[in-house]
Amino acid sequence: MTDVWTSVGVIFSVFLVDKTKILILDPLVAIFIALNILFTGTSLIRRSLSGFMDEAIDKKNLEKIKGIFEKYEKKGLVFHEIKSRKAGQKKFLSFHALFPNDFTIKKSHDLIYKIEKEIKKAVFNIQIESHLEPKDDKKSFEN
Ligand SMILES: [Zn+2]
Repeated sequence: MTDVWTSVGVIFSVFLVDKTKILILDPLVAIFIALNILFTGTSLIRRSLSGFMDEAIDKKNLEKIKGIFEKYEKKGLVFHEIKSRKAGQKKFLSFHALFPNDFTIKKSHDLIYKIEKEIKKAVFNIQIESHLEPKDDKKSFEN
């Protein structure tokens, strides 16, 4: 599209200068097109680079995940170490879920299973890794 705008701009400014006889229009249109090329170029480079480097998943999906966590926090769970990244179309999420001490493994696992299912339903193409911990253990807050 940048090529198209360059060509359109050149033809347009030649036409404009010919019609109006205002010579300054030509360099003005040229500057505008140059800025457009620079802008497009930088955004292309930025987009290619973010594909190489780990970047958090987009805000909209993070908000959805946060909403799900908040729902379960009201039920007494705590979440921390929430990390996300994306590689191409694939999204990755990891987090620690802290449960009350008296929760059985079965009960905790059933809950985390439900939470992960909810996240997978809300966020397309996401792979989740979770770590279960007891809420009242100091070790849970160490890395
Ligand atoms: Zn932890």
